[in-house]
Amino acid sequence: MANKNSFGVPHVRTYDEFREREAFKDPYIKKEGLQEPSICTKCGAVYYKKRWTLDLKTKEKFSEKKFHKTLCPADAKIKDRYFMGVVNISGSLLSDYKQQIMKTIYNEEERAKTKDPLERIVSLMDNKDSIRIETTTDSLALRIGRILSDSFKNEKNPAEYKFRYGDKYVEVDWIYDRKEKVNGRQKKAY
Ligand SMILES: [Zn+2]
Repeated sequence: MANKNSFGVPHVRTYDEFREREAFKDPYIKKEGLQEPSICTKCGAVYYKKRWTLDLKTKEKFSEKKFHKTLCPADAKIKDRYFMGVVNISGSLLSDYKQQIMKTIYNEEERAKTKDPLERIVSLMDNKDSIRIETTTDSLALRIGRILSDSFKNEKNPAEYKFRYGDKYVEVDWIYDRKEKVNGRQKKAY
């Protein structure tokens, strides 16, 4: 899925270039044919005025019987394990700060979900020395990557942080123990 160049290496681009891709469509967002109001039978999000929301005031406008029952795009993606973003975390930082990193990830999902119920984690795999997070949207993967990078900043040896993508798909690789050669000797970044 990643956009490959002639060498088979995914393109690495900047955040600004990423923003230009906003016009790409999310295949799970289908505005036509979705009746209003609808409710997601999984998470309780409500579809009204062409948007999904967890806002209780919107929900309370209607009696339970009024709602058409469906799955919201986020829960449909989770069911199909369809993800539009990946964050890969590895490196020595994990051995000391895994709990804090996990907490940061879940806090960010909670914050994003409150604003937009379609921003969710599809899966989180803790492989001891690495963590892989799959997200329903590219923007959530991007934000998790940015917030981790900002929270664990090391001015001398910044965490390696890059975007790889093709279409509306982003991969963030965060490796926090780059070894750098200083005066010919190996120096651990962290
Ligand atoms: Zn849902």
